[in-house]
Amino acid sequence: MLEILKNRLKQGHRTLKFPKETPKLAERYRGRPIIDAAKCAADCSACAESCPTGALQMHPPRIDLGACLFCPACSSACESGALRFGQDHRLATRTREELLVDGGEAKLAAALDEKLRKLFGRSLKLRQVSAGGCNACEADLNVLGINVFDLFRFGIQFVASPRHADGVVITGPVSANMRQALIDTVQATPQPRVVIAVGACAISGGPYAGSPEVLGIPPEIKVDLFLPGCPPHPLTLLDGLLRLLGRIEDEGRISSSST
Ligand code: SF4
Ligand code: SF4
Repeated sequence: MLEILKNRLKQGHRTLKFPKETPKLAERYRGRPIIDAAKCAADCSACAESCPTGALQMHPPRIDLGACLFCPACSSACESGALRFGQDHRLATRTREELLVDGGEAKLAAALDEKLRKLFGRSLKLRQVSAGGCNACEADLNVLGINVFDLFRFGIQFVASPRHADGVVITGPVSANMRQALIDTVQATPQPRVVIAVGACAISGGPYAGSPEVLGIPPEIKVDLFLPGCPPHPLTLLDGLLRLLGRIEDEGRISSSST
């Protein structure tokens, strides 16, 4: 017992000071893509041709962050160094259109309106639906519960029943077998509710797009927050959730040169 207590004292406090401070991420982390159009040869589309999901087009440059797997075949194919991945984990948006970035300014997720912030700002219960996919998105959502990220300190919790939830988190491309279960879960969640799409699969089908088994989020389900990535980094998830609740109060705009 004494040994355990000694080790705990030695380890100290492990919870990140996020969002007050953002930890330095590993060198190999691939965050928001950065395109330097000046370095891009006019007759070259090697990057776009290498993209497995069609997320990238050049001349003019545009990346669909909702379809991007951050794999990064494009930056490896680019010989001029015009395309690279930065360290910026902030990717959340409120609309699908805002995930289409062109190398200029990008708009980050705005907060819910005042009425919903009052309701959910200090206590948000979420039911997660795994609608296909590889389960890596679920793994990163689980990671939010460990003491490093400590999601609970913000009043955000995952619950077992949609009837006890304020919102639904969707992962996976929504396979034919999961479509009705997803609709039922959303309908069982009381109004007002929020719907959050996590990962390339939920947003665009990701690597499964085009499969006849992949139906996508039904159009009658309105998504309030898009969290891209494959899977999204836990900080991307936490940043997006806190933006939605109005607990990160920067201007919500970034330049593509931010790292
Ligand atoms: S990192 Fe994204 S844009 Fe680049 S090749 Fe992979 S999926 Fe396509
Ligand atoms: S978005 Fe990527 S990590 Fe998430 S479920 Fe789909 S394939 Fe897996």
